[in-house]
Amino acid sequence: MKKLAKSPWMLHYDASSCNGCDIEVLACTTPKYDIERFGIINTGDPFQADILLITGGVNSQCEGVVRQLYEQMPNPKVVVAVGICACTGGVFKDCYNIKGGIDTVIPVDVYVPGCAARPQAIIDGVVKALEILEDKRSHYTEEKEEEKKEEG
Ligand code: SF4
Repeated sequence: MKKLAKSPWMLHYDASSCNGCDIEVLACTTPKYDIERFGIINTGDPFQADILLITGGVNSQCEGVVRQLYEQMPNPKVVVAVGICACTGGVFKDCYNIKGGIDTVIPVDVYVPGCAARPQAIIDGVVKALEILEDKRSHYTEEKEEEKKEEG
């Protein structure tokens, strides 16, 4: 993993999960798995977040919230779908109110399968997301510099 330019802040949202995957996300923040060793800070504020970690599929009630959280996060940002429900809708995908996985509403960068997703797999997914985030940051800076040159 590359050295990060800035500590990434992570927002966790439970879209419609059974809470199985949420417990595993919580386990990642305990000293046993210690996701903070990568410099990650867990936040409840979408305006400060770089990584959106979502569990559960999208249903008609949470669809607007998922979209809003994503739009509130500053660019560049990455989304990690945790668990098979977040990836595809999982065991709930044929329910009348389920739209499907998170990517039916917002773009997803990393898919972490499993039911429930294991803490090791979640951490692996977040590390992949950090690499994607660094890549997006470098392109984002280049794009901003080009925009400035064109403006002035
Ligand atoms: S993937 Fe399994 S544990 Fe996770 S939210 Fe879906 S049903 Fe629950």
